[in-house]
Amino acid sequence: MSRSPCRSIAVVLHVRDHGESDKIVTCYCPLIGKLTGIAKGAKRSKKRFLNKLEIFSLLEIHFTTGDRSSLVRIDQADLLAPFANLRAHYDRYGAATLLCELLLHWTRENDGEEELFRLLVWAMESLNQGAAIRQTVILFQIKLLDLLGYRPHLSGCIGCGRENNTRDPYRFSSSRGGLLCGRCAHETAASHVPLSLGTAKLLHRAQSLPREKLARLQFSDASASEAMTLLKRYHSDLLQREIHSWCAVG
Ligand SMILES: [Zn+2]
Repeated sequence: MSRSPCRSIAVVLHVRDHGESDKIVTCYCPLIGKLTGIAKGAKRSKKRFLNKLEIFSLLEIHFTTGDRSSLVRIDQADLLAPFANLRAHYDRYGAATLLCELLLHWTRENDGEEELFRLLVWAMESLNQGAAIRQTVILFQIKLLDLLGYRPHLSGCIGCGRENNTRDPYRFSSSRGGLLCGRCAHETAASHVPLSLGTAKLLHRAQSLPREKLARLQFSDASASEAMTLLKRYHSDLLQREIHSWCAVG
């Protein structure tokens, strides 16, 4: 069977040891999407792989496809950005791990989305450069949901269309993908997440701002907590699974 050499830029989402000397690496590439490869001798080969095949690293990888297996063979990796601060600080490590876990669950092989790759690199760079952690994670997820086609409806009640002008918070319904006002959320479903008008407006504004302007938004601790609770519930309900890294971000 013929094997063809390829190359791509890639962000490493997950790495595990395989046998005594190999590593299995899963990354996200702009045109290919999720890609899993084996790096033979990675634990021994200083020249080709040392300190490169690490979680979060931005790389250019050279790899070979052609086996019947979906696993490619990674032949070489060049380090473009190590994002070293993400590994040096526990809370930034936890946040970056959450981004990687979300992409691992949300994306597929042979289904690249260049904008999604750019979004991931933007979030990694922001976290690496010291941006507010929860805010960056929230903004990443708001933009991610857009790209996945699960943009939540955050501009008024999805039931009656009215903007909430009472002091009561909205309720966010994961199953309907949007906000409900107090009148429309008759039954208090356990799955409804309360969301204040202020936080709803912030998140809605984040949906419409281009990425380079997102730093203008400022989330208070209370808003960040509300938004995180909503996003955690929404992702878990859509994916029908627990996301383990949430506990590292809170
Ligand atoms: Zn309503």
